[in-house]
Amino acid sequence: MNIHEYQAKALLKKYGAPVSRGVAVFSAEEAEKAANELGGPLWVVKSQIHAGGRGKGKFKEEAAGEKGGVRLAKSVEEVKTFAGQMLGSTLVTIQTGPAGKQVNRLYIEDGSDIEKEFYLSLLVDRDTSRVAFVVSTEGGMDIEEVAHSTPEKIVTFSVDPASGIQGFHGRKVAKALGLSGDLAKQAGKLTEVLFSAFTGTDMAMLEINPLIVTKDNQLRVLDAKVSFDSNSLFRHPDLVELRDETEEDAKEIEASKYDLAYIALDGTIGCMVNGAGLAMATLDIIKLYGEEPANFLDVGGGATEEKVTAAFKIITADPQVKGILVNIFGGIMKCDVIARGVLAAVKAVGLQVPLVVRLEGTNVEEGKKIIRESGLNVIPADDLDDAAQKIVAAVKKGA
Ligand code: GDP
Ligand code: MG
Repeated sequence: MNIHEYQAKALLKKYGAPVSRGVAVFSAEEAEKAANELGGPLWVVKSQIHAGGRGKGKFKEEAAGEKGGVRLAKSVEEVKTFAGQMLGSTLVTIQTGPAGKQVNRLYIEDGSDIEKEFYLSLLVDRDTSRVAFVVSTEGGMDIEEVAHSTPEKIVTFSVDPASGIQGFHGRKVAKALGLSGDLAKQAGKLTEVLFSAFTGTDMAMLEINPLIVTKDNQLRVLDAKVSFDSNSLFRHPDLVELRDETEEDAKEIEASKYDLAYIALDGTIGCMVNGAGLAMATLDIIKLYGEEPANFLDVGGGATEEKVTAAFKIITADPQVKGILVNIFGGIMKCDVIARGVLAAVKAVGLQVPLVVRLEGTNVEEGKKIIRESGLNVIPADDLDDAAQKIVAAVKKGA
């Protein structure tokens, strides 16, 4: 689960991280009030969307002006003007995709005088099974680009969970950033603070880009991107409160109501599969035969007819879907349950695109019979390879 920058900063502040003062607002009037409270003389008006690259982003609407989604303002009047332009407009950044994201809230922040911009992030490193730090002097820009062209400018290390965060970790960060004296001390404290925030809230990623040194030599978190491990959200009801459903894929929200493991993708072939491994293999084989999957969906072992119906409805409601592949290897999951679920869904929403069904395993004959006798225009398939080729061919023919 992702949260907004202003929520991430409030959270980090609780743990003791240095952040600027700021107020989240939903209207130009609120922005004006916030600007007056903050006092100036410099303010930053920041679009709050779950995507990075806002500063270099562009609004779709001409009325929103030429500047990006993060703007420096030199007067209360300017804050109000920018807020009015940005709210309700659609911001396109390298991370939003071409459709962009509508800006519904802003963060009005006390502006900082920047001396230097650094990069600092924490993430769970799967290779070492530890929390790792990624630190670079090259902040404020695209870190992927830095990793690509000047990898020597990125320093990484991981923290042993048995001994936890130690003083030497902070000194590593300070050294990597070329800091000494009081700034090195601040870096040491920040390292501890960020680590305890990360582990204390079960984050999956914490990215600060940029971490800055101000003109008066203070280290400050100027941007913060946080995502939590969804599997541990049950331990953090207070964090679940921060969820902003308008930032999430509507299909994924619908799927989560039925406890379906569904992830929206960009392709054209809707998939309904049981078992995460088989679902991954199905995505791979669709790509192998030259098409792209529209989603990942694992209906799970004990799916009911109701759940299968819901899943099928979510897939067919996606306008990108040009064909559907149902691939079930029935173990615990019974093929007849799947067949009935598919039929119920087709009756409810109709079937406008080709449907390939591959059933194997428990109650397979009964499942096949249900489909056969339904009168539906279903293309039967015998195995995964056959199924993938058939749905790809059907979609290509329709296109
Ligand atoms: P992003 O573009 O989504 O990563 O948003 P950021 O919060 O990182 O802001 C983009 C850029 O705006 C930063 O890299 C800074 O260069 C600039 N910026 C943000 N806040 C301030 C500020 O308080 N003062 C100044 N001078 N620049 C800022
Ligand atoms: Mg940034």
